[in-house]
Amino acid sequence: MEFKVLILGSNSALPAHGRHPSSQFLTVHNNHYLIDCGEGTQMQLDRFDARKSRINQIFITHLHGDHYFGIFGLLTTYNLLRRSFPLQVFGPVGLSKMISTVLDSTGNSLNYSLEVIEIEANEPQMIFEDSEVRVLTFPLKHRIPTYGYLFEEKRPSVKLNGHLLDKYKVPLDFRESIRAGKSFTSTDGTVFPASIFFEKTIEAGKFAYCSDTAPFPLLEEYVQGVDLLYHEATFLSVEKDRAELTQHSTAAQAAMTALRAGVGKLLIGHFSSRYKNLTPFKKEASAIFENTHLVEEGKDYFLD
Ligand SMILES: [Zn+2]
Repeated sequence: MEFKVLILGSNSALPAHGRHPSSQFLTVHNNHYLIDCGEGTQMQLDRFDARKSRINQIFITHLHGDHYFGIFGLLTTYNLLRRSFPLQVFGPVGLSKMISTVLDSTGNSLNYSLEVIEIEANEPQMIFEDSEVRVLTFPLKHRIPTYGYLFEEKRPSVKLNGHLLDKYKVPLDFRESIRAGKSFTSTDGTVFPASIFFEKTIEAGKFAYCSDTAPFPLLEEYVQGVDLLYHEATFLSVEKDRAELTQHSTAAQAAMTALRAGVGKLLIGHFSSRYKNLTPFKKEASAIFENTHLVEEGKDYFLD
């Protein structure tokens, strides 16, 4: 497995031009996380064969509808599918009331445990940790309380040597434990240290998710040196005044943040519906930060 981000939604405010509201499906080795959950997210998860039953944490940035109106359908679907694993949802104050209001109105109780963790942070704060990641939240600058998320991988990504795996008949279900550094014992009792199967090791990395936000100097510190930065770019520079009014960023501003923060790769998304053709976004951002990519729904993005 690896560290990868699957884009489920890339548009701002409403669905348009075949693009959907914000959502991303993050895979870090064995674990899966959902970041934002705009309308249509569960259909996008199915469309791109993302394993929604494996999501145990959902991170919501803020309570503008294009970032979380899909959560009610998803929570209800989990119930219909008889989910039994607990689910944690992180987001700003008000999220818990919003979810309980909708769910209580349906008259059905959930058959799984749902924990809503509300965030109030004026500075970066660690909010979650499991076997694969540490997650920090940090405040963004938007019209209502909004939070970014920083995912820190806890162990390197390892690519295994397929030829040696076949040669020593390593079963499929044993490969993940080899990646985690556990030795393998063959049926004749020979012990193979995990490292002999390592073909390539990629250092543990960091991914930051920033949507929605106006640019501000502290943000560059919050995402300093991350390998992969997703940053909203709702407008082109020609609409800079509108970006400022609505507390959003232009492609150039997103690129400037990436440049000043010294990130490895920049993904931009959350495009305004006024733009059907996105080529100018790439042009505008790349002129400032060369390693810029426009997010495409259904596509995976990696740390390197
Ligand atoms: Zn917003």
